Amino acid sequence: MRKVLLSLALLLSAFVLKGQDVVFEEVFTDSTLRLDYVLCGDARHQAIYWRQSFETGAWAGRRAHLAEPLLKGNGQIRVLDPESGACLYAHSFSTLFQEWTVTEEATQVQKAFESSFQVPYPKKPVDIEVSLTDTHGKVSGSLKHRVDPKDILIRPLADKGYETRTLLEGGSLAQTVDIVVVAEGYTEAEKEKFFKDAGRAVDALFSHEPFASRKESFSLRAVFSPSAQSGVSLPRKGEWRSTATSSHFDTFYMDRYLTTSSVWEVYDIIGTVPFEQIIVLANTDIYGGGGIYNSLTIMNSDHPTFVPVLVHEFGHAFGGLGDEYYYDDMYETQYPADTEPWEPNLTTLVNFQSKWADLMDHEGVGLYEGGGYQSKGVFRPAPDCRMKTNQCKDFCPVCTRAVIRMIDFYTQ
Ligand SMILES: [Zn+2]
Repeated sequence: MRKVLLSLALLLSAFVLKGQDVVFEEVFTDSTLRLDYVLCGDARHQAIYWRQSFETGAWAGRRAHLAEPLLKGNGQIRVLDPESGACLYAHSFSTLFQEWTVTEEATQVQKAFESSFQVPYPKKPVDIEVSLTDTHGKVSGSLKHRVDPKDILIRPLADKGYETRTLLEGGSLAQTVDIVVVAEGYTEAEKEKFFKDAGRAVDALFSHEPFASRKESFSLRAVFSPSAQSGVSLPRKGEWRSTATSSHFDTFYMDRYLTTSSVWEVYDIIGTVPFEQIIVLANTDIYGGGGIYNSLTIMNSDHPTFVPVLVHEFGHAFGGLGDEYYYDDMYETQYPADTEPWEPNLTTLVNFQSKWADLMDHEGVGLYEGGGYQSKGVFRPAPDCRMKTNQCKDFCPVCTRAVIRMIDFYTQ
């Protein structure tokens, strides 16, 4: 009998280590390990350094098909079994740092950017591997390090005591995509405006398909982090404000590009509130925002285009969708002709079969040249889409399917 039990145990451990079949409860606890890194370098070289780690709140991410992310992203973080090397959990992402590495400035100077990732808290020591990939999908920087869950220097993250309201609750953490909305540029006196604006964000997202018919698959919590001053910084006018997440327009000297470089501060504000997606809501009526895949969405609260821009940016951050618009004078930067993009709604025809070839007989779906900022060499699935213009209300059929697949990936 003992022998049978032993071989059964061996069989089970082999099952766990197969990777694809990792049983969440066998290797992870219910809490979250937050890992902070510095990403640095320039257009030619990129490096990753480990900064600090925290134990935060309950694990809000997926508990099934742990070893493979649905999309490749521009980088991945993997939790590995140190003995077998098997992947226990993998998550993909893109970063503001990598966007910067393709700017003109990155050919002149080296810079450092903050980055944070969450993985389920391991029961035993694990290896963490973080890698960044270039526009050809090749690894351009990586770091591997051991994490012992009993390390006394992993700091339990304390909440800052910010008022948090649940604005939408679709189900348990495991059954839903958990979104957290963080207040940026709202003073103490503007608290109710923030919660009202966060409610408008819920209405905006869930009045659009495929979010509308899958509302029960989402939860949304809003964290009121007051700012000393109202509004956000506008460098082109010399206006700098003291705000909760230090966001500003003119990122990479582009007027409408509103971002925050204080990623660790954003994570500190969220504290132990469980989340998978972050929306930083910036209290301004100036046009702008941004969405970076599995990193964060940042949005102005009061410009008339609030609704379409939020849906577009969340399409980037959650769905991993690429921009379907393009510029006539843009040369090949992000999507080289010899590489199939990982974004589900763009193709260079290197591997079109992996994209929407099966949807080509669908009404309006085709191959339209121009997308991903390039007028040549990149193709999009439809004449217009939520990922192309603010005038187009809906996602095209290919983007719609990509978002549905992502919802299923996190909730099933
Ligand atoms: Zn589309």
